[in-house]
Amino acid sequence: MLDQIRATPGRYAVVGVPCFIKAVHLLRAQDELFRTRIAFTLGLFCGHMKSARLVESFAWQTDTAIDAVARAEYRLKGPERPANWYTAQLTLKDGEVRQKDWFYLADGDWGAGFFQNSACNWCDDVLAETADISFGDAWVEPYSSDWRGTNVAVVRSPLMLKLIDAGIAQGRLELKPVDADYIADTQAAGLRQRREGLAYRLAWHKRGLRPRKRVSPSTDLPFPRKLIYRLRYGISAWSHRLFWLSRCVKQPQLYLGWARASLQLYQGLSYGRGRPGVLARKLGLTKRND
Ligand code: SF4
Repeated sequence: MLDQIRATPGRYAVVGVPCFIKAVHLLRAQDELFRTRIAFTLGLFCGHMKSARLVESFAWQTDTAIDAVARAEYRLKGPERPANWYTAQLTLKDGEVRQKDWFYLADGDWGAGFFQNSACNWCDDVLAETADISFGDAWVEPYSSDWRGTNVAVVRSPLMLKLIDAGIAQGRLELKPVDADYIADTQAAGLRQRREGLAYRLAWHKRGLRPRKRVSPSTDLPFPRKLIYRLRYGISAWSHRLFWLSRCVKQPQLYLGWARASLQLYQGLSYGRGRPGVLARKLGLTKRND
């Protein structure tokens, strides 16, 4: 897209996750052409970035050859399911459609970290803080259950605010003001991972890069939380390796079996779900009973 912007004169609005928007600002600071052509930045709240292996894994689990896939939908919308009930859909090149709820997928829990980009372990920007305006999902009730999905928006530029106010006045936008705490509440899990989780990763991860962030390294958090952060980190790292190996030896079950077991452990610790959850409750590692 940047090549296109360079080649074609005009005024552009760039949409991206927080790190993309920050990169665009750095580029604008260095390059006059991008400074004048990129007029607006629109950010998307970000949980983390996953690799294309996620779709390959969906393909394995829906008996689909990855070469036959034309399009992937990660969170299908429909009146029969709430917004937080994720359904994956693959549209094949011949028009056939295959679906599976994330609930039944071996790696079907976004927050468990499967296929996460390792840079996301060191990221502290959930809300695209450098964008003129940013948008995210309202992960609080009653909005989580509304199948249409609901956005929260953070406006940082006066011009954007004027446009938004005009949209509301004309009835083209249905928005009402909320405070910063409300927005933080909608992103509680992401902020936990990128505040206390990041502080913990900075403290225990001694090898490789240890970037300076707005949170200081700290191990001052309860043992069960430490376990969850370690497990998520391990799932992220090993999902890439095991998927690669499974693909090399043409044995999807190798990855899928590992993913299923890892997810059970993660959900047992995080939500008290299943047999691992019973054990975690007995050991005092979780109080939740999902
Ligand atoms: S979590 Fe951070 S580093 Fe990862 S994709 Fe999102 S903004 Fe970029």
